[in-house]
Amino acid sequence: MADRPADVTVDVAVIGAGIVGLGIAWQVCRSGRTVAVIDPAPATGATYAAAGMLAPISELHYEEEDLLELTLASAALYPGFIAELGPATGYRTTSTLTVASDAADRRALDDLRLLQQANGLGVLPLTIRSAREAEPLLSASISAAFSVPNDHQVDPRLLAERLRAALETAGTGMIAQSATEVLHEDPRDAGSPTTGVALSRGGVVRAAEVIVANGLGALHLAGLPVALPLRPVFGDILRLRVPDHLRPLLTCTIRGLVRGLPVYLVPRTDDTVVIGATSREDGRPGVSAGGVHRLLHDAQVLVPAVAELELIEVTARARPGTPDNAPLIGRVAPGLLIATGFFRHGVLLTPIAARICVELLDGAPDPRWKRFHPDRFRAPAPQEVSHA
Ligand SMILES: Cc1cc2nc3c(=O)[nH]c(=O)nc-3n(C[C@H](O)[C@H](O)[C@H](O)COP(=O)(O)OP(=O)(O)OC[C@H]3O[C@@H](n4cnc5c(N)ncnc54)[C@H](O)[C@@H]3O)c2cc1C
Repeated sequence: MADRPADVTVDVAVIGAGIVGLGIAWQVCRSGRTVAVIDPAPATGATYAAAGMLAPISELHYEEEDLLELTLASAALYPGFIAELGPATGYRTTSTLTVASDAADRRALDDLRLLQQANGLGVLPLTIRSAREAEPLLSASISAAFSVPNDHQVDPRLLAERLRAALETAGTGMIAQSATEVLHEDPRDAGSPTTGVALSRGGVVRAAEVIVANGLGALHLAGLPVALPLRPVFGDILRLRVPDHLRPLLTCTIRGLVRGLPVYLVPRTDDTVVIGATSREDGRPGVSAGGVHRLLHDAQVLVPAVAELELIEVTARARPGTPDNAPLIGRVAPGLLIATGFFRHGVLLTPIAARICVELLDGAPDPRWKRFHPDRFRAPAPQEVSHA
């Protein structure tokens, strides 16, 4: 990413070059607008850690059904999104296998299947034998298995690289600095029309439209008219190399429950496998030894051959969480869009986030997504309260 001298003038400035900011910038660029992307360290945040599961069905959680329409819409956009970028994104449409370790895990997965089926989602029970025919290295002692044909995966690091390359080829300005403030026509009124972005080394990107897509970094950005209810939810995740004699370790993603705790194994095309992930709200950005131990143990319960792999990377990053686990996306002032809070679905939700932003820029927003507006947690002012 070039360290461009400011000042720059573009139609749209995108703050943040994680998977969400890059995906948005790419679609905005394709809409015919000039774009500048601002990030001192592209794709090193949550994007760097993400497993890349595109799993609206397996990821369905109780009381998060509101999110399902959005996650399914984004999953449906993925094939077209990838086709525009070409190969080398690690996008794979192999199914996901969900497995239970003990009897209590089986009951939990049975309950989840009822919720999934009640929402019209395709989840197929398998016998243990047929699951092991599909994945011979799966433990013989698992207690249940389900196939989820429509949950897929991508490699977020490769996808981010492809997006950056596509943006650079299209002539998009990449600015290797931090954004410090969103600038407005009236400097005392963050609700007044946006004029651009101030940079950490003193320059300015002038733009009539600014998109704030810098994950948890949005918490430290001045000039926003709304308080963003973001919180870091840390995750530890591992990468392991599969030795020659065990290749392929797996052909599809395995998601499991082991004594009530989730663990997943995502095979990559380069003979590595990703094992994740913990979920911690302890405020500690470093890797948790207990977390790594738990992940390795639980992955081995499901796939004993994990013990023979080479551990090549341990990583921890923070997911940008919100009170209802759904993203914060919408227009908050003339010329100012917010797109953050993608929590554990940011890779999956990138295509729909990009579409929503382009529709907002076009002045033609889809009313279905209004419920994810960043201001939805604000207590109503007294005059807004209905007395009906
Ligand atoms: C362990 C783990 C596993 C995950 N697995 C999955 C998965 O399987 N599937 C899935 O869909 N999601 C997954 N996620 C969630 C996903 O990674 C996030 O939702 C997604 O990366 C959010 O993307 P983002 O671009 O909003 O934020 P980030 O990736 O965090 O990017 C934010 C960017 O903003 C930049 N930035 C910050 N402040 C500033 C500033 N002031 N100026 C300019 N730039 C700034 C940072 O440098 C960074 O590059 C996982 C997350 C974790 C931690």
